[in-house]
Amino acid sequence: MRVVILFSFLLIFSCAQPQTKLPEYSTVLTDKERDIQNQMFADSWLNTYIPFSVMGTDILFSAADLCEEDDRIYSLGVNLGNENSAYESIREEINQSLGLGPKLKVVSLGSLSPAGKAGILAGDEILEIDGEKIKQGKDAFPSYIEKIDRKYRKLYDLKILRNSEIIDFQVRSEQRCRFDFVIDLDNNTFNAFANGDIMVFSLRMAKWLLMNETGAAIVFAHELGHNANKHVADKIENAQAGALLGLLLGIYVGLPQDMMEVGQSIGASAYSIDYENEADYLSMYILQKAGYNLDDAVDFWRRFAVEVPNSIYSEGGTHPSTAERYVRMEATIQEIKNKIENNEPLIPSYEKAN
Ligand SMILES: [Zn+2]
Repeated sequence: MRVVILFSFLLIFSCAQPQTKLPEYSTVLTDKERDIQNQMFADSWLNTYIPFSVMGTDILFSAADLCEEDDRIYSLGVNLGNENSAYESIREEINQSLGLGPKLKVVSLGSLSPAGKAGILAGDEILEIDGEKIKQGKDAFPSYIEKIDRKYRKLYDLKILRNSEIIDFQVRSEQRCRFDFVIDLDNNTFNAFANGDIMVFSLRMAKWLLMNETGAAIVFAHELGHNANKHVADKIENAQAGALLGLLLGIYVGLPQDMMEVGQSIGASAYSIDYENEADYLSMYILQKAGYNLDDAVDFWRRFAVEVPNSIYSEGGTHPSTAERYVRMEATIQEIKNKIENNEPLIPSYEKAN
């Protein structure tokens, strides 16, 4: 009996067919349309990455004091790429949009970074450093890294190609927090985390953050706060070197660990709430140092709550609720204002170690 019912059930559904006659369909046009849509997605990633990386690079320099000494490096503040560097699924499209070939090109740079102050522009191709040629193709980025001394402040002679004109620049490296950052291709989830070496932001989150002037800076500074306070103690051996090579155009090869999401709760640990509060606290000092108006920051957790309403009631999870974060942020901003008024140094207050 059961079999008969099941059989007739299947029969009814398998017999159902669409009744309309559709206009003729071309798979060739579909392939072309696929290329158009992928190009649009690549450009949407690029239009997010560029302003985000300018903001982030500037913060890494202005927050140098707030990172521990072993987490500071000297750098020029340029984000580089060539035809080998974009995510594979959008590589052709990115190469097209940025005109990337075998030479190493400045994709973006901090406006307050050494290279920015020296007059280097996005789109410039780096030909030589201190009279030595930068290799092309796959060896281009390692050959650049080799010529920059991360340990000492130094003056570099750069030979730049700009619109078929060769220009010489002198750039003196400055100190920044060593951590780099990535915008991944995830346009579905609202996520950001720090893994002790790198800060990773989902495309969707980065896009939303950029809708507000301080939004992107707040979350960038929060993730920097996790790394600067060494919240992730156990790093992958050589993770730094691996990251460095993978970071062309903000691409990170390697497994992220100890996720510390802003929105949801993955990677719960007994101390996460304290860590979140500490990263929030430090982020306001980072923002102040980077020249942001903290009064514009206050409504951030309210806007976040509207976007991720679960976070309004997240007590007991890995993150403080947005309500708690709002109230704590106001208190931190007041603390910073008091320090400025009393001419006290703008450093976070730490508990006395006995
Ligand atoms: Zn966090």
